[in-house]
Amino acid sequence: MDTAVDSIVVANRFGVIQYFNRAAERLFGYAENEAVGHTIAILMGPTDRGRHREFIDRYLATGEKRIIGIGRRVEGERKDGTSVPISLAVSEFETPDGPCFAGIMRDMSADLETQELRERLAHTERLSAMAETTAAIAHEVNQPLTATAIYAQTARNIVRSSGELQLDKLTDMLDKVVEQSLRAGTVMERVQRLVRGEDGNYETADINALMLDVVGLARLHARSHNIAVELQPDQTLPLVQCDPVQIQQVVLNLIRNAVDAMVEFGSEQGNEIGVSTQTEDHGRVRIDVTDCGPGLETDIAESLFTPFHTSKARGFGVGLAICQTIVLNHNGRLHYHNNIDGNGQARGATFSVTLPVDRRSKFDDQD
Ligand code: ADP
Repeated sequence: MDTAVDSIVVANRFGVIQYFNRAAERLFGYAENEAVGHTIAILMGPTDRGRHREFIDRYLATGEKRIIGIGRRVEGERKDGTSVPISLAVSEFETPDGPCFAGIMRDMSADLETQELRERLAHTERLSAMAETTAAIAHEVNQPLTATAIYAQTARNIVRSSGELQLDKLTDMLDKVVEQSLRAGTVMERVQRLVRGEDGNYETADINALMLDVVGLARLHARSHNIAVELQPDQTLPLVQCDPVQIQQVVLNLIRNAVDAMVEFGSEQGNEIGVSTQTEDHGRVRIDVTDCGPGLETDIAESLFTPFHTSKARGFGVGLAICQTIVLNHNGRLHYHNNIDGNGQARGATFSVTLPVDRRSKFDDQD
């Protein structure tokens, strides 16, 4: 018993300690000869100290087992008065002098600490998941809200400027306001679903048609900065299984980043953003968004897809993290490279989304 890892304390029917092994000496700080002859009360925390006789007497009188053969968590007290969480299991055995009890005890402090740490971590994780969700929703909903505002302003201008109401144009603008408001709702719902780890709304979609909508939307924003957005669709592109709204969000984000980069950088190198689609080998398609901005600095490039990394004064730094989550959920890949023009000069960046036509097909590591 002296080589046992767990503490073993044997007490008689009066709770007087008969035996105290080495591990118990280490756990409680008493030498065996200090403990033997005292009642087990000296090892108990204040809650149980006065009641141990009561426990033993009740058991001997009624046979009702509260701890014997069951084991539970108790608070122990060391010789120096500090308390220690203990897992205690008690067994009973008969001796010529009557029943005795053997308590086997294990110090649970380390477990408790781990558990507390785990709880704290879970809390922090929940908080940061919340922060991410909030930031993600704010980020994604910005786009349809901006579009709504632009359409509404245009509608107002129509009403103000024309002596005679141009009802057709006005209806058209209001239709767009409705469309974009509904889009904000859909985007919100899909971001929530994404953060909750739920699957998207997959359907077989024509990526060129999706990109046509996206480019239309992006032009609204880009035009105010004198930036053109051009679409070059590959007419042989196969249909792709995807969540159309999510894929549109990804490309909108990439275009918005391209606009931001070009606005910040100035337009010496051109003022056009290209969106193109391509059919790739192995049943994949690729969407490229090419800009004429400054390209990516190495230090930003390293943490590009990590949430909350931004170089912008008012950036959230969640856009690319969301894009990557969406693309990976589609079993696709999101890459970027800095462009080099015909004269070997750096000229903007290209972000590429590669998607499998059949989303169940896997990329291998070389991809
Ligand atoms: P945010 O746009 O809110 O900063 P993102 O995750 O979308 O968050 O982008 C992170 C950072 O990546 C940006 O702050 C910017 O520094 C850089 N970045 C993204 N796209 C481009 C681009 N096309 N050209 C240059 N830098 C870019």
